[in-house]
Amino acid sequence: MIRRNTKQKEAVKAELKRLGHPTAEELYTALRDKYPEMSKATVYRNLRILEENNAIIRVIGAIDGGERFDADMRPHYHFICLKCGLTADIDDGYMKSADVGIEEKFGYKVVGHRTNFFGYCGKCKE
Ligand SMILES: [Zn+2]
Ligand SMILES: [Zn+2]
Repeated sequence: MIRRNTKQKEAVKAELKRLGHPTAEELYTALRDKYPEMSKATVYRNLRILEENNAIIRVIGAIDGGERFDADMRPHYHFICLKCGLTADIDDGYMKSADVGIEEKFGYKVVGHRTNFFGYCGKCKE
């Protein structure tokens, strides 16, 4: 049972990596094609476990009601299109200085910050 759970968790994470920033629903649809025996509850449960283990992050703020998930744990920002929901990595310019600034100003130990930029993608801004 433990073995099976680990396998499922790994399958969920691998598929999440492949898709980039899918919603739970998109992830489930993709997994169902490969693993017909995997239920929606299993996918949601594994997403929760992976998030609790800091193995994935939940990207909030997407429109279309869909939270998205991301298995890329390097510090990075996201751009979210307000019209089509496109969620893209902004790989450039993570502001480590912001973490340090908050530490110095408030005396917290900061391990990172997450920021989403909102607007319209190339297709939607027309
Ligand atoms: Zn768009
Ligand atoms: Zn990302």
